[in-house]
Amino acid sequence: MEMQQNAERLGAYLERRQAELMDMIERLVNMDSFSMDGGDVDSVGRVVADWLRQAGFDVEVRDKPALAEDEAWMRGLGNLVVARTHAREAGPGIVFLAHMDTVFPHGTAARRPFRVEGDRACGPGVADMKAGVAAVMFAARALNDLGLMPVPMTLMFSPDEELGSPLTTRHYRELLPGAQAVLCAEPGFPVGGVTTERNGSGHMHLRVEGVAAHAGRCYEQGASAIVELANKIVALDRLVDLERDVKVNTGLITGGTSANAVAPHAEARLHLTFRTLEDAEQLVQDIRAIAGQTFVPRTRTTLSGGIRLHPLRPGADTMALFDMASRAGDAIGYALRTNTARGASEAGFTSSALGIPSLCSMGPEGADLHSPDEYLVPSTVLPRCKILALTAIQAARAFAPSTAAVQPWV
Ligand SMILES: [Zn+2]
Repeated sequence: MEMQQNAERLGAYLERRQAELMDMIERLVNMDSFSMDGGDVDSVGRVVADWLRQAGFDVEVRDKPALAEDEAWMRGLGNLVVARTHAREAGPGIVFLAHMDTVFPHGTAARRPFRVEGDRACGPGVADMKAGVAAVMFAARALNDLGLMPVPMTLMFSPDEELGSPLTTRHYRELLPGAQAVLCAEPGFPVGGVTTERNGSGHMHLRVEGVAAHAGRCYEQGASAIVELANKIVALDRLVDLERDVKVNTGLITGGTSANAVAPHAEARLHLTFRTLEDAEQLVQDIRAIAGQTFVPRTRTTLSGGIRLHPLRPGADTMALFDMASRAGDAIGYALRTNTARGASEAGFTSSALGIPSLCSMGPEGADLHSPDEYLVPSTVLPRCKILALTAIQAARAFAPSTAAVQPWV
């Protein structure tokens, strides 16, 4: 009964603001926010922050955490935006996650801006996840304006999810313990898919120092960092186990100074994917062993990074959240189904590393993510916003503040 009343009030509120909501999605899509372009990401952050401040939220733009020397590249990333209904001391309550960054470089939005063709809206990051950002803004505001939430709400807009959230996960370790539940607005899977199971991911960085030498005159005095790295890459490739869905991908390599010099340095960036935390720990251990092995004498290798986003497992808490979402869907005549996703998201981190009940893919639906064909289904925006809000109300009652221990980094 109460669910039906809430559904009607939320429905009326959100339908009145539907045009404004679609305008916000269009506005956000037309702003580039490639993860590595921190200035662009922060521009999106300002739009989000200003709108939420005007809506009465307490907004904080977080400074970057202290960074180690080999993390200097992260200084160029954007900043996390946090919006709260209550003072931080009141605890996070119900947490909504959305990320502001996309995989599309500066200039993409100008080349192919937001457009609607039939029941598809296109544009860089339209589903992943500008629509999710807008959905969180409007759903949380609706709950706040209508006084429907009995507990605090915390909204997180991260700047670096497409990189595995290297900055954001540190903030979450500090800000999210004690939360009651996490609803992540990554794009929903057509039709009605909500993610209860997801792979985890990691990022690692291999750096090899060799000894430079003239390749003709005194080749034997050199020690090639490139040859060392090449051996390591081949060894790493043997760790791939498709049956277990364990993958290590050397996606980026650089090195050397010129063709006629023995390479004094070389580096590689690795991406790790896994289904369980046990597999992840084993994989990291194996990678460390390979990094510690020397194929070319007199080279030196350093390895940094590790697991960034943990896997999301369909445990009791996640399934209870799914049931709440499903009931919310029933209340508005929108059927939901469980979905297994192979990519990682921050919901896996909040669930496995922080022990907070988490559910993913609660945002408006879309597909072909990370490609020029990415699309959003505009007719799912309103129902998904309503389901997000109605699930939050139920989760606020069902879950007490989490007391789970924070898992150490792997
Ligand atoms: Zn995403």
